[in-house]
Amino acid sequence: MENISRHEQHEEIFNAFEAALGKGNVKDNPATVNAYFGDWLPPKTLGQSIPPEFVVLPNGTMETQAVVKICNRYKLPFVPVGSNQWSLSTAPTLPGTVIIDSKRMKELIEIDEDNMFAIIEPYLTVAQLHAEANKRGLYIGSPEASAQSSALAGHTFQGLWGVAYRLGVSFRNVLGMEWVLPDGEILRTGTFSLDPDCGYWGKGPGPDLRGMMRGYCGALGGIGMITKMAVKLHPYPGPKVWTAQGHIPNMTTTMPKDRFHWELIKFDDLEGAARYMYEVGRAEIGGVVQKWPTVYYIWWWANCNEEYWTEWQKRTFQDNVKHTVGTCLWGFTSDEQLEYEKRVLEDIIKDTGGRRVKQEIYDMWIPRAANNWIRDTNGSRMMRPAGTFLALTLASDTIRSSVDLVKQGYKWIDKFSPPILDCDGPDWIGTYDFSHFGFAETDFPVEKTPEDLGDLMGKIMGMVKEDLQKGVENGIGPFLGGPYHEMAGPVFKYDKLLKGIKKAIDPNMVSNPPHNISVE
Ligand SMILES: Cc1cc2nc3c(=O)[nH]c(=O)nc-3n(C[C@H](O)[C@H](O)[C@H](O)COP(=O)(O)OP(=O)(O)OC[C@H]3O[C@@H](n4cnc5c(N)ncnc54)[C@H](O)[C@@H]3O)c2cc1C
Repeated sequence: MENISRHEQHEEIFNAFEAALGKGNVKDNPATVNAYFGDWLPPKTLGQSIPPEFVVLPNGTMETQAVVKICNRYKLPFVPVGSNQWSLSTAPTLPGTVIIDSKRMKELIEIDEDNMFAIIEPYLTVAQLHAEANKRGLYIGSPEASAQSSALAGHTFQGLWGVAYRLGVSFRNVLGMEWVLPDGEILRTGTFSLDPDCGYWGKGPGPDLRGMMRGYCGALGGIGMITKMAVKLHPYPGPKVWTAQGHIPNMTTTMPKDRFHWELIKFDDLEGAARYMYEVGRAEIGGVVQKWPTVYYIWWWANCNEEYWTEWQKRTFQDNVKHTVGTCLWGFTSDEQLEYEKRVLEDIIKDTGGRRVKQEIYDMWIPRAANNWIRDTNGSRMMRPAGTFLALTLASDTIRSSVDLVKQGYKWIDKFSPPILDCDGPDWIGTYDFSHFGFAETDFPVEKTPEDLGDLMGKIMGMVKEDLQKGVENGIGPFLGGPYHEMAGPVFKYDKLLKGIKKAIDPNMVSNPPHNISVE
C-alpha cells in the first residue's frame, strides 16, 4: 500500500465500499461530506472537526460488517450515526474518517403487543416507533432531541426521557441486541444469542454485555455499531393517533381530559419544589414530573425568534414560573385512576405549600409545549435563538443534591455573563424512577461564535479538572467521551477495565477513536 498514491488509495477504498454496498451507497462528494462535520454543538465552530472522507450507507448487519472489516483493513476510523444530533461525538476529528450513516436501516421489524416490546433498526425514529406503538395502546419515551432522532441511538445515549419518571431511563429499556463489534465480529445479546429473530429478553447465556454499551452517555460509538435492538414498550392510555392540531411551528396538542391532566405548581424556592417532587414520587402517581428552568418555557413555547424576544422582554415567564414544577397525571388504567391521582396531588400541593400558576400562563404553555415531554417535537427549539445552548454540569444524583448543584449554576451565570446570555437561572431539575433520583442540568443560551464557545468550553474543561481533583464527577465529563475517561478513569479506578475492553474488541482502534477511551 505504501507504493500507491493517496488518491489511488482513496479510489481503492471507494471501490471496496461500493462493491460491498452497491452503487449510490458510498459518498465522497464535497456537498455530502461537508454536511457531516458539525451542527449546533461546538466542534465545527471551534475548528475542531473536519469533513469525513466517506459517508457509507449499509443496509443491514451483514453490510455493516463488510464496512467495518474494510475500515479495519485500511485502518480507517469510523463513526456510527443515527440522526446525528450529538455532533460532539459524531463530527470527525481524524483524517480518513468513515461515517456509517444508518439511514437505510429504518425498519420497525416487529412489535409484539402481548409481550410489549419492539425490534427496531438504527434509523427508525422515535416519532415512527411512538406512532406505531400508540396504535396498539403502547408507547415509548422521547429524548428532548426531538422525535426525529433515532430510537436506537436514544437507547445507547443518555435517555433521560420526560416519561423516564415512570418508565426508567432509556438504557434500562434495552433488551436483545445485534451488534457489529469494532473488529467486524457479530455479537448477539440477550435472547437474540439463542435465536436471531427473538429479542424479548435482555439477558442471555453468560455475563450481561449490555454494560459495555449503556450508561449515562453510553460508549459514544466507541464499541462498534448496533444494527438491531429489542426495546421495551409500555401501556399507554392515550389516543391511537397523536392529537395534534395545526402544523409545526404552530402545532398544539391536547390529550384526552379523562386520561391526562397537567398541573403547573409554583413554589417560593427550589427546596419547596424538591419537597413536592419527592412527595409525588412517594405517592407513585404521575407520568412526567419536571422542574423546568424559566428559559425552557420560552424556548419551547415561542414559535419564532420575534415572539421569543417580545415575550422575554415582557417577562411573561420570568415573573410567573420561577420554581414551578410541571406534573402530568395519567389515568393508566381508567378515568377513576386519574380522579384518584388528582385528589392525591391536591393533598400534596396543600401539604407542600404549592400554588397553581396563573390560568393565562397555563393556557399559554400547556397546549403548545407540555405534551412535548411525552412525545417531543419542540426540543430543537432550544438552540434556535442563539444557534446553540450549553450547560456547565449535568449531574445525576438525588433531587436534593440537584438543588445544590443548580444553585451553584446561579453563581456561574453571574460570573460568566457574558458570554452566557440572559436566562433567569440554569435550574432544570428532572426526576426519574418515581423520584428515586434527580438530574440537574444547568442549560443556558450562548452566542455561537468561536470566541464565546471557546471561552465557555475552556471554563467547562477547567471545572471538570477541578472537580476531578476533588474526586467529584460533575456529569458533563462523560459527554466528552474518551478524553474525559482518560482523566477520570484513574480517579474512579475504571480505566483499566475500559481500556481492556477497548483493546480486546477494537485492536486497530477504528471505532470512533478516542471514544470510549484511547489505548496506546
Ligand atoms: C436539543 C437537544 C436536547 C436534548 N436533550 C436531552 C434530554 O433532555 N435528555 C436526553 O436524554 N437526551 C437529550 N439530548 C440528547 C439525545 O438523547 C440524543 O441527541 C439523541 O437521543 C441521540 O439520537 P441521535 O439520533 O441524534 O444520535 P446520534 O447523534 O446519531 O448518536 C449519538 C451517539 O450514539 C452513537 N451511535 C449512534 N447510532 C449508533 C449505533 N447504531 N450503534 C452504536 N452507536 C451508535 C453515535 O456514534 C454517537 O456517539 C438532547 C439532544 C438535543 C439535540
